[in-house]
Amino acid sequence: MSDSDNRLVLVENPFHSARLKPIRKGKKPPKLIAVVHQSGCTGCEVCIAGCPVDSIEIVPGPNPENPTFQQTVEIDIARCIGCQNCSQDCPWETITMYEHEDSYTAWGNETLKSELYIPQEQLETIQAEAGILPESKENA
Ligand code: SF4
Ligand code: SF4
Repeated sequence: MSDSDNRLVLVENPFHSARLKPIRKGKKPPKLIAVVHQSGCTGCEVCIAGCPVDSIEIVPGPNPENPTFQQTVEIDIARCIGCQNCSQDCPWETITMYEHEDSYTAWGNETLKSELYIPQEQLETIQAEAGILPESKENA
């Protein structure tokens, strides 16, 4: 994913616990993908229970000492199967189903904070702190 204006390149965060969950089955992506409009999300967690593939993740609020305050959620678009449960369950109607090819743009427009997808530079910082070389540098 990238923002064409400032070329911010986002990558999957390999250290997020969601990466330990089963990947989506099938070669083709689903027709529809759910995206959370985070500015309207209250963090109520209602949507999480109804997701059959457990692909909705909590995004902690800004204060690390009180992470549930102003928390939101995000959807792992790599794992969503497009069942629409969450968009129907959300009491605040803040989850929208998008055609797969439109979902990345929608995600970029509607996501305020993500832990599933992070800037490339942030990943490199995490890897450096953990003493892990990026794959491209390991193979150099
Ligand atoms: S559309 Fe279905 S699979 Fe996708 S996040 Fe919502 S509940 Fe989960
Ligand atoms: S149900 Fe709606 S408001 Fe509640 S956490 Fe999910 S997306 Fe946010």
